[in-house]
Amino acid sequence: MGSEKIKCLIIGSGPAGYTAAIYASRANISPVLYEGIQPGGQLTTTTEIDNFPGYPSGTSGQEMMEDLKKQAIRFGTDVRFGIVSKVDLSERPFKVTVDEEKEIIAETIIISTGATAKYLGIESEEKFRGQGVSACATCDGFFYKGKDVAVIGGGDTACEEASYLAGLCNKVYLIVRRDVLRASKTMQDRVKNAPNIEILWNYNTKEIIGTPLGGVNGAILAHKNGTEKKIDIHGFFLAIGHHPNSELFSEWVKTNEEGYIITEGKSSKTNVSGVFAAGDVQDPNYRQAITAAGSGCMAALDAERFLSDNK
Ligand code: NDP
Repeated sequence: MGSEKIKCLIIGSGPAGYTAAIYASRANISPVLYEGIQPGGQLTTTTEIDNFPGYPSGTSGQEMMEDLKKQAIRFGTDVRFGIVSKVDLSERPFKVTVDEEKEIIAETIIISTGATAKYLGIESEEKFRGQGVSACATCDGFFYKGKDVAVIGGGDTACEEASYLAGLCNKVYLIVRRDVLRASKTMQDRVKNAPNIEILWNYNTKEIIGTPLGGVNGAILAHKNGTEKKIDIHGFFLAIGHHPNSELFSEWVKTNEEGYIITEGKSSKTNVSGVFAAGDVQDPNYRQAITAAGSGCMAALDAERFLSDNK
């Protein structure tokens, strides 16, 4: 097995990872960035980005991530396709295995592995995953053009996905487990004013129904008051939050109860000296592209300082 010694390893290719890469390469610490399972991260599954400063007419997630990648490469980041499969953070330099075969020996690591969509955990959801059940309206919405679909959740993501689907589908049910939406006022107004979005308050999903060949054709919902309701739908879109991708590191790096990596004060430092975290994997609160990018910058500056203090 080949082994390679580097100064700075960046794991993950969302706005946090690429911003860390831009700063780290400009600081001459020759970063190597592994893109991971979803190159470009979660933003590649969104359409419009209208709230990233500096884009007065907005941009798309795909375009923004391609631009960030080009910018990182322009300053010399070694961007590689590959998945980090194992880490050993017991001593420095750290040992990291990529794609179960290549070994990297890194003096510093920036963890920017992001977060992944949550599922409800019911059996029928597994059964129809990819056959009507999806956690990404912008990736899969197209397949449900002109049909009736449901979006589960009451946050900004659910409202955003419901609005997106309303532009494609015949009818969108927004299934909310309480009698209020958690989403921002603007997003709430958007879904409430859409003529083809119906909000079903106080409902949980009991079962998703369908056929092995035809996929999803309905769902049974359970109201808080004990009654049940069946809706006829072809797409079932989850938008109930995310889970931080920190498992690989949790033997060494401290996380909170939900798995978010804990960073020290206003820094990107984890409890392991030389290991830094940036973006959604350490942020249960803001989870925005711009805050992820900002924390990626912090992680690169922290890694650079660490390397000059520990020569
Ligand atoms: P949130 O955690 O904000 O919302 C999750 C939603 O799913 C809540 O309404 C929650 O209900 C519901 N939910 C959770 N578990 C279940 C379950 N088992 N069954 C049914 N419903 C469930 O996640 P989001 O992904 O919406 O947003 C994450 C962050 O990203 C937020 O800070 C948000 O503001 C931000 N964001 C911003 C956007 C923008 O600015 N354009 C776009 C998208 C996201 P309950 O309320 O009862 O807990």
